[in-house]
Amino acid sequence: MARKKIIAGNWKMNKTPSEAVALVNELKPLVASDEVDVVFCVPAISIIPCMEAAKGSNINIGAENMYFEENGAYTGEIAPNMLTDVGVKYVIIGHSERREYFAETDETVNKKVKKAFEHNITPIVCCGESLTQREQGVTIDFIRQQIKIAFLDVSAQQAATAVIAYEPIWAIGTGKVATTEQAQEVCAAIRVCISEIYDQATADAIRIQYGGSVSASSAPELFAQADIDGGLVGGASLKPDFGKIVNYK
Ligand code: PGA
Repeated sequence: MARKKIIAGNWKMNKTPSEAVALVNELKPLVASDEVDVVFCVPAISIIPCMEAAKGSNINIGAENMYFEENGAYTGEIAPNMLTDVGVKYVIIGHSERREYFAETDETVNKKVKKAFEHNITPIVCCGESLTQREQGVTIDFIRQQIKIAFLDVSAQQAATAVIAYEPIWAIGTGKVATTEQAQEVCAAIRVCISEIYDQATADAIRIQYGGSVSASSAPELFAQADIDGGLVGGASLKPDFGKIVNYK
């Protein structure tokens, strides 16, 4: 079974709601595609206006984060049913910036992944090594550990629908994209890890993205790799270039 590619933009903390709407309108014709799933993960305050702007197009509006409780005294957090109530189907979980600046851990990532599935939201589960880990040769071990914890108590049926984003931290926002071989090697290792946790059918179904300085020029070769099913794109998702990345063929 061929996996459909999924190309997601991660807008991070950029664009006011009115700027976000303008960007959706600008990118809408450029990202039109029947071949890939297109997701714009935008700041929470811009989700509703962006959904309005994206109506009738192939753009899915996703969230950049979500809390793992249903509701209650968690000032500043967004609950899963707040996302589903407005039609959100994708949420980024455990981005390295959230791990670094907001103290997210493999354990909180696991709680969020399980909660997302409970609400039928597809998590885009992020993993990735630091430069030190790569230089020490522990990349694959480290990523396997991240994946095993992220998917604890997640069923095979759920895992098969998940998206994993492999994002080497040293490649994020640095302009230093991983080589095609490096990206493919880790994405293949993630698929093996999923086959060990579950089975080959689950590993064959799950979609694994590469992220980290993806550009219109690097996308075609990256996305042609056997185990790379699309990308999670930061900087370049805020520009018309994102249309070229979506239509990389
Ligand atoms: P970048 O960000 O494309 O700007 O490197 C990717 C990400 O953080 O998801």
